[in-house]
Amino acid sequence: MKGDYSRILKEINLKVTPKRLAILEILAESFCCMTPDEIWRKLKERFNKVGLPTVYKNLQELSECGVLSSVIHPDRKSYYYFCRNKLNHCHFVCLSCHNVEDITSSKIASLQKNIEGLLAGKLLSHILQLNGLCKNCLKNHGQKSLKRSKYGHNRKIG
Ligand SMILES: [Zn+2]
Ligand SMILES: [Zn+2]
Repeated sequence: MKGDYSRILKEINLKVTPKRLAILEILAESFCCMTPDEIWRKLKERFNKVGLPTVYKNLQELSECGVLSSVIHPDRKSYYYFCRNKLNHCHFVCLSCHNVEDITSSKIASLQKNIEGLLAGKLLSHILQLNGLCKNCLKNHGQKSLKRSKYGHNRKIG
């Protein structure tokens, strides 16, 4: 796994440093999106010296290179998520526990085509994020009457 992360860093021409590797590892193992502050606290368990500004700087670099996705949350904090899925997909974000799931749908590609037709232009990228409550949080919120779906990190629709 560690070799994997250094390969990812080399591919985007970023120097392989123990802190960058640790950031990727922490995010990859969490399946959640995390704030710089949360990542910083985890890093402090491993490194004697690590400043919050370093964490901010690294997260920004990694997201500019497309390795990390930034997640938009109504609480206005910045969150980052590490996804290795190279296929066209979008993310479902649980606003309560910050768990992130991949949503794959052939409809995303066809929606993109439809919109290009409407605009008579070309879409170069899109940000599609679905916010809600995951299965577990929904249960804890006591809304049992709402329809449940099977739990998993990868879901295909249509
Ligand atoms: Zn993903
Ligand atoms: Zn949740």
